[in-house]
Amino acid sequence: MGSLSINDHQQLIQRINHANKYYPSPHLQVQLQVCQLRTLINEPLAIHPLVVFTHPDASLNFEYNPDLITLQALSLRMNELMEEYSNCESTTNIKQLAFDLKSKHSRKHENLYNHYQLSKNQLISGVFCIWCSEKKTLMTRTHGTWQCPSCGRLDKLAHIEALKDYGYLINRLINNEEARSFLRVNSRFTVSRLLNDLKLEKIGEGKGTKYDLTKLL
Ligand SMILES: [Zn+2]
Repeated sequence: MGSLSINDHQQLIQRINHANKYYPSPHLQVQLQVCQLRTLINEPLAIHPLVVFTHPDASLNFEYNPDLITLQALSLRMNELMEEYSNCESTTNIKQLAFDLKSKHSRKHENLYNHYQLSKNQLISGVFCIWCSEKKTLMTRTHGTWQCPSCGRLDKLAHIEALKDYGYLINRLINNEEARSFLRVNSRFTVSRLLNDLKLEKIGEGKGTKYDLTKLL
């Protein structure tokens, strides 16, 4: 968003509230990705790099370039490119390629908590009600289920989303004590049952047992 321009050194400058932020050129970035994609697919294929600025409040203030466009211009540009490359690849080849690329995909597991240098007190723990998500209401554990004090809904599996957050943000391994603290449940037995019911892989035994949340992520 904001006013976007590109300087002679190919840096992208974002101007918001009278302050400039600098980013590497998206055009150079996408050209680098073309090279990386070529190495990956190892085929003489036409690859056309295109940069699309999707934020509706982005104002593009650089010389017109048909490959640095707004979202509104994308479908027209796609039609032009389809025409331009109409003789290149058959749909079957493209489908096979898409399938090959998909099979090579692996998820990136990154510790976001460390990446953004968050501290524990910045994170609100607990099981949030998905129906009241904008109000950020925490559900409470009552009679073997989770209940939202705001909308009154019951959800037996509401803790799964919280455990996913824990897996993504903090650690893929969690023990009973950590789960009690994160889910805001006092009972060791309740948490033990919740974790065991998810049939997660377990590491260790007894009080030191760690549950692997990978299956949920
Ligand atoms: Zn609710």
